[in-house]
Amino acid sequence: MITPKFDNSFARLGADFGTRVSPAPLQGAQLIHCNQSLLATLQMDAELARQLVEGQDLPDDIEPFAMVYAGHQFGGFSPQLGDGRGLLLGEWRVGDHRYDLHLKGAGKTPYSRFGDGRAVLRSSIREYLASAALNALGVPSSSALAIAASDEPVQREQLETGAGLLRVSQCHIRFGHFEYFFYQRMEPQLAQLIDYCARRYLALDADTAQQAQALLEMATQNTARMIAHWQAIGFAHGVMNTDNMSLIGETFDFGPFAFLDRFDPGHICNHSDDQGRYRFDRQPNIGLWNLNALAHTFSALLPMDTLRRILAGYEQELSQHYHQLMMAKLGLTSDPSEQKHALLTDLLSLLEQDQVDYTTFFARLSQDPQSARDLCIDRPRADQWMADYQRLCDANADDTTIAAMRQINPLLVLRNHHAQTVIEAAEAGDYSLLADLMQALQQPYAPARLKEPWVQPPPAHLRAKPISCSS
Ligand code: AMP
Ligand code: MG
Ligand code: MG
Repeated sequence: MITPKFDNSFARLGADFGTRVSPAPLQGAQLIHCNQSLLATLQMDAELARQLVEGQDLPDDIEPFAMVYAGHQFGGFSPQLGDGRGLLLGEWRVGDHRYDLHLKGAGKTPYSRFGDGRAVLRSSIREYLASAALNALGVPSSSALAIAASDEPVQREQLETGAGLLRVSQCHIRFGHFEYFFYQRMEPQLAQLIDYCARRYLALDADTAQQAQALLEMATQNTARMIAHWQAIGFAHGVMNTDNMSLIGETFDFGPFAFLDRFDPGHICNHSDDQGRYRFDRQPNIGLWNLNALAHTFSALLPMDTLRRILAGYEQELSQHYHQLMMAKLGLTSDPSEQKHALLTDLLSLLEQDQVDYTTFFARLSQDPQSARDLCIDRPRADQWMADYQRLCDANADDTTIAAMRQINPLLVLRNHHAQTVIEAAEAGDYSLLADLMQALQQPYAPARLKEPWVQPPPAHLRAKPISCSS
């Protein structure tokens, strides 16, 4: 018997978990880019990727499904959310792996509330590029296989171009899924969801309490490591609502995110975030807040002590992983020491004070340290830091140390102003810059292959400003 490539095990959980909905194809939908390396990983035919993202001529074995979930948005609870403008097309199977394919911008669903079910080209391009960038940087993230533009106008603050994005992830289950069933007091369905996730992500067949415990442990550890990565690379998510947090700890649901230009711990990338709840340096705390919300949904299954003990592991995992990443960026061994800790604190305070471009500083440090020092304005302070740094650098630091530093300090990240250039070209029908930047972001450490313009940080007036949430 031939195994079908598509399956939708999630949809089989039943009608309490969402609604079957067919995609409403966009007028004149047309593929504008496909991620070739992901296509190869998925062993998928390019023609199928095109059909899926254009939402037309869909194969018979897909069962598109809109998931229902809930979530804490900016700290307040929304009891019912769901896929309002995206559909889980199904799981694409490659050997033992299952990849969820999710079509964003697929039209209205029962969870669209007042929305139009559409996604715009601007935010779809941003998600397409950012998810590719994070994957290339080794940061756990969903990815995107293909993007389509259309002739369909979509109203946001202004009239924009409608688009489709084919998102790929091993997991579309959010913290908010558990919150939905917990607050609706649907205990059997909560247990069913726990069993589904434990089997799928942990291959764990056990009683519900054991499964819940294992899932919380996984979510806690993975979320800690994901956020450590964000802080190390300078990534601000912008909308860390619990409905945007993936159970397996992948960067998910891209909105007004930003990669830092200058090092600004207080950076707020989301225009609607008046209080700075999700500002860059609060992400580690918010991760824990969100995990508390997840843990609460298991409170009838596990003793409070157990929940507390698991959550208590978060901070250590995050700081240990962050320390490791930052020491690797500096080319230092990761064994903890007071001096190394002080060296890092001093550096971050110097970069903040002198408004130094974060990515450029570390890239230069691994190419030509003197040129990194030259980025600072306060030269005496920079010289002092360099002297302290040299003293801690292993006297035997050799070519392998330098090579390793160059493998962790990217030459480029997705800059907001570069994304904007690509978006404006695409809105005018030129997709060549999209392809060009995509290629550069997929090789962020390889200077020879890089096109110089994409490496440049923005001039001061183009530095990342808060972005509107509308997408
Ligand atoms: P987000 O801000 O993208 O995380 O979305 C929050 C909620 O609003 C989710 O339930 C989305 O499905 C829904 N939503 C966002 N944009 C739209 C839209 N254009 N049409 C329908 N639902 C939407
Ligand atoms: Mg969302
Ligand atoms: Mg979203």
